[in-house]
Amino acid sequence: DLFYRQIPKVELHAHLNGSVSFVTMEKLVARKPHLNIESSRTAIRSGQRRTLAECFQVFKVIHQLVDSEEDILMVAKSVIEEFAADGVKYLELRSTPREEPKTGLTKRRYIETVLEAIHQCKQEGVDIDVRFLVAVDRRNGPEVAMETVKLAEDFMLSSDGVVVGLDLSGDPTVGHGKDLLPALQRARNSGLKLALHMSEVPSQKEESELLLDLPPDRIGHGTFLHPEAGGSDSLVDKICKLNIPLELCLTSNVKGQTVPSYDKHHFQYWYERQHPCVLCTDDKGVFCTDLSQEYQLTASTFGLSQEAVWTLSLQAIHCSFAPEALKHSLVQRWAELRPHIL
Ligand code: 5GP
Repeated sequence: DLFYRQIPKVELHAHLNGSVSFVTMEKLVARKPHLNIESSRTAIRSGQRRTLAECFQVFKVIHQLVDSEEDILMVAKSVIEEFAADGVKYLELRSTPREEPKTGLTKRRYIETVLEAIHQCKQEGVDIDVRFLVAVDRRNGPEVAMETVKLAEDFMLSSDGVVVGLDLSGDPTVGHGKDLLPALQRARNSGLKLALHMSEVPSQKEESELLLDLPPDRIGHGTFLHPEAGGSDSLVDKICKLNIPLELCLTSNVKGQTVPSYDKHHFQYWYERQHPCVLCTDDKGVFCTDLSQEYQLTASTFGLSQEAVWTLSLQAIHCSFAPEALKHSLVQRWAELRPHIL
């Protein structure tokens, strides 16, 4: 449906390497024939499901294909252009800095290269504002987390406002959030915004309670926070009191099998309570989706009017980590772009 494509949108939960499109993936595969990877292996098509564990195997394959500055520049530029082509006007991209001794890639160069891609897109007039969240992969433990936070702090000060925050992601079944608290606390104290994956799997209630005390500025997924899903009233109360927005990714959760079907997605629970919910893609490449499709899917599953969809997209501006002046100009932009049929 054209409506969902045409409306301006905000994307706040997009992992760089999970967002690489099929077309770009084929280019990467062609660059590295020795790896013998089929580009179809990195995408989960419509009707297909994977366990969350299998999804994390897919990221390992993609990381083999994206391991140099040249690769990162290409994937970051194409991902930004693809979001812009889908009507995204403001994007917060996140990615885990990696070092690859084989290609001489360092974590610092990794981030610099993503920032260079953002800069080049701006120079080339791509109609999208992009910010960056430095990601901590929980699998790598507390020392790496602390090192990543320090790197993020440096870039927050030197990137002209492009680096705005920190993401906590990676396999939720590995490691415990309590070990990462010192790093997350430090990030928070230094002014980095926190977007944390929380309760993505059922066993994380205790961890979510700890993380909520930071508190985070946004929550990724939060699938099992509410009492019906094994969470608790106290978790929900805290989140509501602090008005912490949720980043919700329907296709990702259904294809990754943490949610049994679209109509059972926790979007309903939080939306009914008028809690700020932001629709996001998570990994548009891996899950073969885009943000327009996520909006359309949510509208058709939960019977949202076009006006309600418009309000969701407008509200997302206020959930972003953009500075107030930019939020203000985005709101104005939305007013100009509001379809006449509304
Ligand atoms: P990258 O950080 O390399 O740009 O993007 C891929 C990484 O994002 C994965 O290795 C993983 O750490 C994280 N990621 C992507 N999708 C998900 C998800 O659905 N859940 C969690 N917890 N982490 C994810």
